[in-house]
Amino acid sequence: MVLVFAESPRGVIKKSAFEAVTYGKKTADLLGTSCVALTLGSVKNAGELGVYGASKVLHIADAAFDHFDSQAVAAAIAAVAQQQGATVVVLSHSSTGKSIAGRLSIRLNAGLVSGVNSLPTVNGASLHVKKTVFSGKAIAEYEINSTVKVLSLMGNAVKPEATGAAVTVENVAATAQGRIRVKEVKTQEGIVPLPEAEIVVSAGRGMKDPANWGIVEDLATTLQATTACSRPVADSHWRPHHEHVGQTGIAIRPNLYIAIGISGAIQHLAGVNNSKVIVVINKDPEAPFFKAADYGVVGDLFDIVPRLNTSLQKFKAAH
Ligand SMILES: Cc1cc2nc3c(=O)[nH]c(=O)nc-3n(C[C@H](O)[C@H](O)[C@H](O)COP(=O)(O)OP(=O)(O)OC[C@H]3O[C@@H](n4cnc5c(N)ncnc54)[C@H](O)[C@@H]3O)c2cc1C
Repeated sequence: MVLVFAESPRGVIKKSAFEAVTYGKKTADLLGTSCVALTLGSVKNAGELGVYGASKVLHIADAAFDHFDSQAVAAAIAAVAQQQGATVVVLSHSSTGKSIAGRLSIRLNAGLVSGVNSLPTVNGASLHVKKTVFSGKAIAEYEINSTVKVLSLMGNAVKPEATGAAVTVENVAATAQGRIRVKEVKTQEGIVPLPEAEIVVSAGRGMKDPANWGIVEDLATTLQATTACSRPVADSHWRPHHEHVGQTGIAIRPNLYIAIGISGAIQHLAGVNNSKVIVVINKDPEAPFFKAADYGVVGDLFDIVPRLNTSLQKFKAAH
């Protein structure tokens, strides 16, 4: 059986969980087995996981899971995987998935490949999986031979596919047992976190001054996008550090990445070159970013960005 851990921050199943279930279902089909999803804590739409391929949704209702504790979550997933005889456990390669994958693989004595980006191939009792390495410059292929296998799936690597129908949710008895006590949780309301954002509007040193960021924020508001920045911008405290994307920042895979006044250094590209569509706005036609762009606009960002925003607003009003 393939067990998929479906993340549900603030009680709602994440898009990446639907991707993981779609991946789990396809992997289960390859193995000739079923795909079961697991949710923890308070969850509103757990049954929806059936639409994306889970034949059953197991749920541990303990409200202690509402505050994330990697020890408790890994212990709960391991216990369910053992009870159910799972041979493959699929997680999202999110900050949550990254923090539990190692613990889980130790508990299950399982081989782990983190950040896989395509379906496995089955070779007897082994699974072959692929992931990108060296900041996306190469693809590595792994063979996992352990009885239980743990895979974490890159965001946006698989499109959620609605192939089934909602299923009923079965409660499983287990409690959260961790040694971490959460004292306070601060969340940014109304902003989609960068790793989950579908559209990202990002800007670099070409902006010249933090006071100029209004045009970037206006464009992001029109597109309902999350804002990001290059490293020197965060290092200069022009923008907060949590917006810094790249090799040493957050790696993202949005559907649309708009890069404004960013040169496209290799360390920046390492964190964004898995975006589905890249649009680059830069006044230098030789800027390296244009080589990675799907669409490029050569021009002064202080002219282009406000005009783009006005056109998009007109388009939105007309449709
Ligand atoms: C170990 C290491 C790790 C690093 N990690 C990261 C990382 O994670 N993320 C990251 O971003 N960087 C990282 N860097 C830094 C990286 O090498 C670059 O220095 C950085 O990305 C450059 O940022 P930038 O493109 O904003 O600035 P610049 O390189 O200064 O580029 C500014 C761009 O704006 C354009 N521009 C200027 N004015 C205008 C205008 N009016 N209209 C339109 N375009 C304009 C210019 O043509 C230029 O292309 C790292 C470096 C090292 C050594």
